[in-house]
Amino acid sequence: MDNVYIDEVETFIVDLPVKRPHQLAMTTITTQAIVIAIIKDKSGRTGVGEVATIGGASYGDSTVEAIKANVDKYIAPHLIDQSPIRFSKIMAMVGKHVRGNLFAKAVIEMALIDLAAKQREIPAYQLFGGKIHDSLPLAWTLASGDTAKDIEEAEEMLHKKRHNIFKLKIGHGDPGANVRHVGEIVKAVGGQSRITVDINQAWDEYIAARQIRALEEMGVSMIEQPLPAWNYEGMKRLTEKFDISILADESTTSLHDTYRIIKERAGDAVALKPAKHGGVLETKKIAGIAEGAGFGIYGGTMIESTVGNAIAASVYSTISEFKFGTEIFGPLLYRDRLTLEEIKVENFEIQIPDDIGFGNTLDYDKLHHYKR
Ligand SMILES: [Mg+2]
Repeated sequence: MDNVYIDEVETFIVDLPVKRPHQLAMTTITTQAIVIAIIKDKSGRTGVGEVATIGGASYGDSTVEAIKANVDKYIAPHLIDQSPIRFSKIMAMVGKHVRGNLFAKAVIEMALIDLAAKQREIPAYQLFGGKIHDSLPLAWTLASGDTAKDIEEAEEMLHKKRHNIFKLKIGHGDPGANVRHVGEIVKAVGGQSRITVDINQAWDEYIAARQIRALEEMGVSMIEQPLPAWNYEGMKRLTEKFDISILADESTTSLHDTYRIIKERAGDAVALKPAKHGGVLETKKIAGIAEGAGFGIYGGTMIESTVGNAIAASVYSTISEFKFGTEIFGPLLYRDRLTLEEIKVENFEIQIPDDIGFGNTLDYDKLHHYKR
């Protein structure tokens, strides 16, 4: 192989518009802010990574501005003249020099793996275990903020055989009214689909205990992050109290946080997201400890565009069992994309791309059009 060593690292902040407002507990998304990292080797080949953030600093403490600044100043210099196939070693070295910054580490590690796979002309999943699944169940999030519109959207998705798992974002506004909204959706489409809810940390333990009982009786199959991320004890009590699955999302970031959740049983399922864990390798470790503890695994999303979504699909394809399926629908919410490739969904499942690297060909005109 000619010159495989890293020559250049570039990062871009991109604001991509979505098709409809996406209402969550802490923000309503109209454009999504993402960071694209491009690592170039000395022969001009490029590896690409993407991390998305939700609502500025309202979902988590990584913002696109901080991610870009910290990659450019503190991470990128460690990459120059390294060979990307040593991505584990490079990331271990970065870990010694840079604390935290999980999103910043993730976007770089993704681009390293993509480049290493492209240099070998193999799909990226072959560098971290190989593919188990050719496709995975794909949930859709109903979050228009309007019950009738949500039902119409769900019926359309069922008809197109795109989704038969629906997640409802119900942390915004009055808990009782939101639970009634869930009831109406369950009544309309619950017979043909599975319904889950995401509170995004918005309830306290008292409200959660009341509302989860009602949700359980309706036949909702999973409650995601009902309490603030810090409230491990409350999550443990809810997990003990109810049969319904309690999924930890915002509280499951680093490997160490996840270990604590598992040890304290502060939930009984974890939502994976390569960005929040610090990359592909950390996501695989988290899946491993969750599997060892008998926790359910859910393939989560930060609502990435096609680039990051293909990366998540590739990682999830190497993990043995998703008790609750995945929600890597991001590209379907966007009005445009930065790659030539599109997401493929057939018979309610996302198809795992088998192209070289993570299967993303960047459209540089689009990148320059949407970059900040
Ligand atoms: Mg969530």
